[in-house]
Amino acid sequence: MKQYIEEAEAALLHTYNRYQVVLDKGDGVYLYDMEGKKYLDFCAGIAVFALGYNNKRYNDALKAQIDKLIHTSNYYYNVPAIEAAKKLKKVSGMDRVFFTNSGAEAVEGAIKAARKYAYLKDGCRDHEIIAMEHSFHGRTMGALSVTGNPKYREAFEPMIGNIRFAQMNDFESVLAQVTDKTCAILFETVQGEGGIFPAEESFMKQVKALCEERDILLILDEIQCGMGRTGYMYAWQKYGVKPDIMTTAKALGCGVPVGAFLMTEKTGAASLKSGDHGTTYGGNPLAGAAVNIVLDLFEENHIIDNVKETGAYLEAALDSLAAEYACIKTRRGGGLMQGLVFHRPVGDIITRALDKGLILINAGTDIIRFVPPLIITKEHVDEMTAILRECLREEA
Ligand SMILES: *Cc1c(COP(=O)(O)O)cnc(C)c1O
Repeated sequence: MKQYIEEAEAALLHTYNRYQVVLDKGDGVYLYDMEGKKYLDFCAGIAVFALGYNNKRYNDALKAQIDKLIHTSNYYYNVPAIEAAKKLKKVSGMDRVFFTNSGAEAVEGAIKAARKYAYLKDGCRDHEIIAMEHSFHGRTMGALSVTGNPKYREAFEPMIGNIRFAQMNDFESVLAQVTDKTCAILFETVQGEGGIFPAEESFMKQVKALCEERDILLILDEIQCGMGRTGYMYAWQKYGVKPDIMTTAKALGCGVPVGAFLMTEKTGAASLKSGDHGTTYGGNPLAGAAVNIVLDLFEENHIIDNVKETGAYLEAALDSLAAEYACIKTRRGGGLMQGLVFHRPVGDIITRALDKGLILINAGTDIIRFVPPLIITKEHVDEMTAILRECLREEA
């Protein structure tokens, strides 16, 4: 591995502080490095590999599509994308789908749709978007502009402009940012990178009412918290607060790069039109096949039921860890999207867990984030907590 790591550092741009491991293959909820060491994976490629690794049905579906047709162009129709859009509409309750290649691109599309919607109403070109502090929406310029982390933005300014920030779960702070120019309010239903902060039901309902009253679009970023992770296909479904535009990605393709932004019929009919937006790869047959098989397997394998059950078990296990160890401040989250908030940085705990064969990730400096494959069982949770306990004990 050492050799490859050196080669990587010589060839790749240094934009990541990587763990000193070269991963080689996966099976279920386990990953193996090049030296054959086994790891229990509670990261899932950052909330991506929901169905686990080396899933035969998933792999076979992709192989079949590869042998048939990988790419066309959006100038032509293709059946996998059509089927995928139909299924996505069904599970989301949204009406119109635009496939992208990543989460950030889905956010870009959502921003463009919101601006166009407002532009068609009044012809003005200075509309504003309200986003939240501590949010994360991606690294491209538009997505970065609505990301509420000044550290990520600073060196790349100027941002796209006319973005105002409010505090999640503080409706007054949102109201304080609303002007006649506000075209959209955007937030993650559960903030991921920002530290596993779920939006409160009352906040969502107040924002939704405000949006309806002022004809402002509600955009929910479900890229991390969507696809069953919280025990609902999309986290907003728990509260019935339906967005006008929604973004999804990460587990949508379970490893094949695909995202999407979805709209209600009303928003779709009054925003992006022919020529307004496009992508070369987005929704190509391979990506479409991935979304299809993922959504089929979600249903057949009762993924959401497993998240509800195993998520409750994980939550209880983390709560008892939090009660046991003084270095843990609290637990936050829902389903299989949980965070343990520490009184101190967690980097060394994560490194020690990795040594012991457990893959964890942080969210910010002092939070361990748990976003495992959605197929994990209670036994896997026990295995994880046993290793984590060892790491915490060594520390005490
Ligand atoms: C990961 C993430 C993104 C960006 O997705 P990419 O595929 O990395 O571009 C956007 N929003 C949220 C909430 C995310 O978690």
